[in-house]
Amino acid sequence: MNILVINCGSSSLKFQMINSETEQCIAKGLCERIGIEGSMITYAPAGGEKEKTVTPMPDHTEAIRLVLEALTNEKTGVVKSLDEIGAVGHRIVHGGEKFAESTIITDEVMAAIEECNDLAPLHNPANLIGINACKKLMPGTPMVGVFDTAFHQTMPEEAYMYGLPYEYYKNYKIRRYGFHGTSHSYVSKRAAELLGRKYEDLKIIVCHLGNGASVSAVKNGKCVDTSMGLTPLEGLIMGTRCGDIDPAIIEFLAHKEGKNIDEIMSVLNKKSGVLGLSDNLSSDFRDLEAGYEKNDPNAIRTLKTYCYRVAKYIGAYAAAMNGVDAICFTAGIGENGPLVRTLVCGYLGYLGVTLDEEANQKKGEEVVISTSDSTTTVLAVPTNEELAIARETVRLVK
Ligand code: ADP
Repeated sequence: MNILVINCGSSSLKFQMINSETEQCIAKGLCERIGIEGSMITYAPAGGEKEKTVTPMPDHTEAIRLVLEALTNEKTGVVKSLDEIGAVGHRIVHGGEKFAESTIITDEVMAAIEECNDLAPLHNPANLIGINACKKLMPGTPMVGVFDTAFHQTMPEEAYMYGLPYEYYKNYKIRRYGFHGTSHSYVSKRAAELLGRKYEDLKIIVCHLGNGASVSAVKNGKCVDTSMGLTPLEGLIMGTRCGDIDPAIIEFLAHKEGKNIDEIMSVLNKKSGVLGLSDNLSSDFRDLEAGYEKNDPNAIRTLKTYCYRVAKYIGAYAAAMNGVDAICFTAGIGENGPLVRTLVCGYLGYLGVTLDEEANQKKGEEVVISTSDSTTTVLAVPTNEELAIARETVRLVK
């Protein structure tokens, strides 16, 4: 069966067509600047040329119409008609406490997703727009929603509660939710397969280090803690997000800089993280690594602080699970960053971690990067959120 996987943002839309039998991506692409002047669609069939077309996309329905047109195009398309698309899998950012699992999309489900809009005001409305557009253009094709938060719904109360007045939880559902769940689930399962061990018997820590970054603790196949919270701003230092800070800094900055709350939140989300910490050197780890090799103090400070924070979370989660069998690195930096992996693992001697320096130089592959006598196994495992969404979609529509 062909599964169309859609990740719909407010002005962009990423898509992949995946054949569920071979689990291969047969075409993928991206619509950008939806509803803005200069919109364009990038489309590439597997093994074929990437084509970029600038064309008006006043709304998401038009964007999805163009995606379907590209997929069925006589010359470069990968299917003859829309009938060959068996189902659509939608990535949905926030499922609140309503969704602990993926689900077939119905009118009731759409209403429940809308009720979570408050928790992700930028993302959930965009996800719903994508669902509505598909509904219009492919009526009758089953759709599945796969939630970024669902995998973390198994966290115990002591991991998800904040030390705030309880009425805020009761009234507004303010608690920790966590994100990147599809990736943490995929990578932890894959690690168990690679180790040839039962998922249900393992204590695994996953470090998803991309532009956004989070760590999770997966005990006996269930997530027991993760570093992102009510929103993706909590936890690790990220590309441009600050991660954990003293909340009193917000008031302090408001007075010092004369900024209002929206302006401060914009600084915390867009100008902080490794970009801010490196004094605007870069949010891209390739630049930071190059700087580190050249002894640039901005790059050194940034990478050391970044890796120290990752190591602290690993320590916290080893404590939360009373031990750890495997630590996985994934996403852009986790898969391709030997230096970050080395600096993080440098803190893990107490877990019996020893790195295999040669294996650690590998990039973008599934590889055990610890030595055979390392007490805790360390692996790099490329994530594949689209494949995980396609698998969930097939599981539910079959
Ligand atoms: P997202 O999906 O959250 O946008 P990614 O998982 O693509 O993020 O990760 C982006 C990060 O990965 C960037 O900081 C980039 O520098 C880093 N990255 C990608 N490729 C490499 C590489 N070859 N070496 C080091 N870092 C890399």
